[in-house]
Amino acid sequence: MAMQRPQRAVVTGGGGFIGSHVCDKLLAAGTEVVCVDNFSTGHRSNVEHLADHPGFTLIEADVTEEFEIRDPVTLVLHLASPASLPEFARLPIETMLAGSAGTYNTLRIARRHGARYVLASTSEVYGDPLEHPQKETYWGHVNPIGPRAVYDEAKRYAEAMTVAFRQTYGVDTGIVRIFNSYGPRMRDDGRVIPNFIAQALDGVPLLIHGDGEQTRSPCYVDDTVRGILAVASSGLGQPVNIGNVEEISVLGLARLARDAVGSGSPFKHVEADHDDPRRRRPDISLARRELGWEPRVSFAEGLGLTVAAMRQARQGLSG
Ligand code: NAD
Repeated sequence: MAMQRPQRAVVTGGGGFIGSHVCDKLLAAGTEVVCVDNFSTGHRSNVEHLADHPGFTLIEADVTEEFEIRDPVTLVLHLASPASLPEFARLPIETMLAGSAGTYNTLRIARRHGARYVLASTSEVYGDPLEHPQKETYWGHVNPIGPRAVYDEAKRYAEAMTVAFRQTYGVDTGIVRIFNSYGPRMRDDGRVIPNFIAQALDGVPLLIHGDGEQTRSPCYVDDTVRGILAVASSGLGQPVNIGNVEEISVLGLARLARDAVGSGSPFKHVEADHDDPRRRRPDISLARRELGWEPRVSFAEGLGLTVAAMRQARQGLSG
């Protein structure tokens, strides 16, 4: 009988919001994890609870520079990248390099080890979409020189590089197009849900960019991670949308966040973000059909869990 290879995953960006939940789930399933992070946007506190886990190794490194993993690896998940508008505005070149050199370097590791590779791509590859909801076959509507371009174009390049490695070297690659995810360990870093919750907790006005009629389809992080890992354990090569189909306006999100906190904060409309997509909702028929995946956590439930986690994190800071 053939011996099964021990499962060992490299998770780049494993110290970040989504990445740290990915590390938790992989370890819980008995997979060893090598987390590679330079903590440019993530926090050490996200993975501190794993420090003594025998299956967990943390390597502090920048994936845009060549690095090596000596012991055998069965899976490479490339999540390392700044991921919010203020962060990629603060780190524009680093964002482009995380998608370009970072993708190249991590693909080379997967190739050397004969490992499955999954790229964390984004709904931003669709830009401000002219097709709604967005199917994986849609090519997108992206401004190549706008304020979001460093992120959007880096991810588009990353997808093309991933496909090139699959076609040229036969690397077993997959691509996950993640739509707005939220949940515990998110920072109020400019992303709409943690920002609204933080503003409501602080009792300051909730800042609505533009008229607030633009929509988002937020997906609770447990569902996002289950989707990423479903792609990882499948043989799917084409991009797969992972997101929730519950579409809510930004104004609606603000109302729900304020109610969940029980705050009396007013709303304040400020200038719209440049190139802010008007509508966002994934078509998830491919994930449903090929992976049997669909989101399980409603927005009301996920929001409650996120508010509780943000409250607890603040008490930890002040305690
Ligand atoms: P995050 O900022 O919390 O996590 C990213 C992690 O990558 C951080 O820990 C950061 O320190 C690390 N990192 C960045 N550049 C690096 C580099 N050069 N070398 C090593 N580590 C580096 O963001 P997140 O929300 O957890 O996003 C994770 C991934 O998922 C990103 O690739 C992002 O583009 C993608 N994604 C996220 C969302 C979302 O809604 N959160 C949506 C679409 C796509």
